[in-house]
Amino acid sequence: MHKVLRELKVELGERSYPIIIGQGLLGSFDLTPWVAGQQVMIVTNDTVGPLYLEKVKGCFPGKAIEVVTLPDGEQFKDWQTLNLIFDALLEKRHTRKTTLVALGGGVVGDMAGFAAACYQRGVPFIQVPTTLLSQVDSSVGGKTGINHPLGKNMIGAFHQPQAVLIDTNSLQTLPEREVSAGLAEVIKYGLIRDESFLAWLEDSMESLLRLDAEALGEAIYRSCVCKAEVVALDEREGGLRAILNLGHTFGHAIETFAGYGNWLHGEAVGTGMMMAADLSVREGLISADDRARAVALIRRARLPEWAPSGMTSEDFMNLMSVDKKNVDGRLRLVLLKAIGDAFITENASADNIRDTLRAFLP
Ligand code: NAD
Ligand code: MG
Repeated sequence: MHKVLRELKVELGERSYPIIIGQGLLGSFDLTPWVAGQQVMIVTNDTVGPLYLEKVKGCFPGKAIEVVTLPDGEQFKDWQTLNLIFDALLEKRHTRKTTLVALGGGVVGDMAGFAAACYQRGVPFIQVPTTLLSQVDSSVGGKTGINHPLGKNMIGAFHQPQAVLIDTNSLQTLPEREVSAGLAEVIKYGLIRDESFLAWLEDSMESLLRLDAEALGEAIYRSCVCKAEVVALDEREGGLRAILNLGHTFGHAIETFAGYGNWLHGEAVGTGMMMAADLSVREGLISADDRARAVALIRRARLPEWAPSGMTSEDFMNLMSVDKKNVDGRLRLVLLKAIGDAFITENASADNIRDTLRAFLP
C-alpha cells in the first residue's frame, strides 16, 4: 500500500494543479481523476521505462495506455527525438483529449511537456518525475522545451501540468551523483527564501543521503512549496522568478566549459552557489560566517567545490556573458542579502567578481 506524505497546490488560477508526494505511489495511486479522456500516452526513456513503466500503468485503471520510449540522455533533447513522440501520437490516432504522462527525469519531463504544449495546439499532461532534481525543480512551474545546437532550452513553451506525482521510492535506483545534484537545488531554496528550511537541511542531511522516505518527503515538499510560491508570483519570469537562478550563472559557465554531461547541472550549481555566497561576502552583503554555513552544507551534500581543472577567469567571463539571463550585456547575478534572502543585481563590482572567480579556480 502507498502512503501519501505531503500534498500541495500550485496556485495559478484556472491552471492550478496539485503536487502529490508519497511513498509507493507508483502503481497504486489513481491518477484517472486528472485524465479527461480515454487515451493516455506515457513518455519515458530506456533507463526509467524498464524500472517503473509497468508500475505507472497501474495508476491509470480503465484507460487505453500507449507508450513511447526515448533514448536516454540530454543529447537527445532535440527535434528529432521530440518527433518520436508526435509520430507515436499520430500513429496511434491520439485526439485532443489525450493525456501525456512524463515518466523520468527533467529531460523526459521537458520533452513530454513540450510535446503536450504543441500536439494539436495543446493537450493536457501529467508529470511523474523520477529524479530528485525533477521532483524539486523541473516538474514544477510549467517550463518545457528542447535544446538547439546553438543553445540549451532555447526552443520551448510554458505549459502547466494537470498534476505532479512524486514517489520517493523511485529515488532508490537513482545514481548517487544524481542525488547530490538534486540536493544542490534543494539547498538553493533554503538559501534564497527560507532560512528555517536551511537549518532543517543542516539537521537532516545524513537522513537525506540515506534516502530516508520521511526526510525526502519533507525536503521535496518544502522545495516545491518554495518553487510554487515563486512561480505563482511570477509565472513567466518577469522578475522575481530569476532568484531561482542562484549559482546558475557561474554554474552555467562551468557546465559549458566542462562540456555538457561531464559535470551534472546540479554539481555546477553547487559550486556556483558557493561562488555566489563568496561574492555576496565581497560585496559586503553577508558575513564570512554565513558563507561558511552555505559552503559547509553544499559540501556535505557531496558536491564539488572547485571549478573544473584548466578553467580560467577569462573562461568564466566569456561563458557567463552569453548566459540568456543577462540583459543588455550587463552581468546579471543572484546574490544573497542574508541566508534565506536572495536578490537580483547588475551592480556587482567587476573587481569583486574577478576575486571570486580566482578564489574558486583549482
Ligand atoms: P535526466 O532527466 O537526464 O536524468 C538523469 C539520469 O537519471 C538519466 O540517465 C535518467 O534516465 C536517469 N534516471 C531518471 N530517473 C531515474 C531513477 N529513478 N532511477 C535510475 N535512473 C534514473 O536529468 P535531470 O537532472 O532529472 O533533469 C535535467 C534536465 O531538466 C535538463 O535538461 C534541464 O534543462 C531540465 N530542467 C528543466 C527545468 C524546468 O523548469 N523545466 C528546471 C531544471 C532543469
Ligand atoms: Mg537548475
